[in-house]
Amino acid sequence: MASNKYKILVVEDDEKISSFLNALLEANDYQVVLAETCGLAKMMFNSHQPDLVVLDLGLPDEDGTVFVRDIREHSAVPIIVLSARNSEEDKVEALDYGANDYVTKPFGSAEFLARVRSMLRNTRHLLSEDFMVRGKFVLDEMVIDFETRKLYLNDVEIKLTQTEFNIMTVLSEHCGKVLTYAAIVNAIWGYPDAGSIKKLQVNMANIRKKLGMKPGEDSYIVNELGVGYRLKERTEK
Ligand code: CA
Repeated sequence: MASNKYKILVVEDDEKISSFLNALLEANDYQVVLAETCGLAKMMFNSHQPDLVVLDLGLPDEDGTVFVRDIREHSAVPIIVLSARNSEEDKVEALDYGANDYVTKPFGSAEFLARVRSMLRNTRHLLSEDFMVRGKFVLDEMVIDFETRKLYLNDVEIKLTQTEFNIMTVLSEHCGKVLTYAAIVNAIWGYPDAGSIKKLQVNMANIRKKLGMKPGEDSYIVNELGVGYRLKERTEK
C-alpha cells in the first residue's frame, strides 16, 4: 500500500535533476512529492508531512537555507541538501541551520540512494527506540523534545544552538554506545575536514557546560578520550 511507503519531498527547480530524482526514487519504492520553489516546498511540506526532504539550495524565489531555517522551527525531519560544487558557504550555512547531510552535484544514483537510506534508517531507529515517548527522548532528568527541538533538564529548558541540539540528537539515537569523533562529525556536518574534530570538541564542551557538567565528570555525556563520546545509559531505579 502507498501509505506504507516513505514519502520524500524533492525541492529542485532544475527539471532534468528533479525528473531524474523522481524516477530514481519511485523505482526504489519511495513515494515522491515535487516542488520547484521554496514557497511551494513549504506548502507541500505542511500538506504531505514527508519522511525526508531533498533540497536544492539555489531556488528561484528564495534560498534553500530559508526553507531549512523555517522547517527547523517545528520539525526534525531529515534534510539532505543538494549543493553545487562552488557553493561551499551555502552548504555550511544550510548545515548550520539544521540540514542533516549534503550531496554535491553531480552525484551518482548509488551514492544518493545510500544517503537516503541512511537518513531514513536513523529516523526509524529513533522512533522504535524504547527511550522514545511521543517524540521525546527521556534519560533520567533530561528530556529532548524532537518536535520543538528543545532540551530540558529537571524541567528547565537548556538553550542549545542548532548544532548542539543536532549533536544531542545523534548521541540520543545511539544512547549507551560510543560514537567516534568521525561518526559524529559525519552525522552533523556531512564530511570531516581539517578542523572538524576541534569544532566538535568545542561544541561538546559547550553542551557539557550548559548541562552543568564539570570537566572530567560523566553525568550524561561520557568522554571516551581519543575515541569519541557516549550518552550514558538510563539509570536503573
Ligand atoms: Ca537550482
